[in-house]
Amino acid sequence: MKIERSCVICRKKDEKSNLVRMTKNDNEVQLDFEQRSDGRGFYVCKTPECIARLAKHKKYAIKQEMAEEILKNMRSTPNKL
Ligand SMILES: [Zn+2]
Repeated sequence: MKIERSCVICRKKDEKSNLVRMTKNDNEVQLDFEQRSDGRGFYVCKTPECIARLAKHKKYAIKQEMAEEILKNMRSTPNKL
């Protein structure tokens, strides 16, 4: 069964495995590589465009350092994310 989620940035729907899951707890956004941690999860495309835009998002803003970290990981280990 295909599970689809939509990116909070561009609203595009895609399979879960093609998106990066993050959770928001106590106003802190964290990456959820395993896609199974508790908390309010949301999804973002694995694209530099959406990750960069997430850093400036009103509701789900991540720290600039985290955005850079994600982008770096995407380049070095694209399959891990
Ligand atoms: Zn997107």
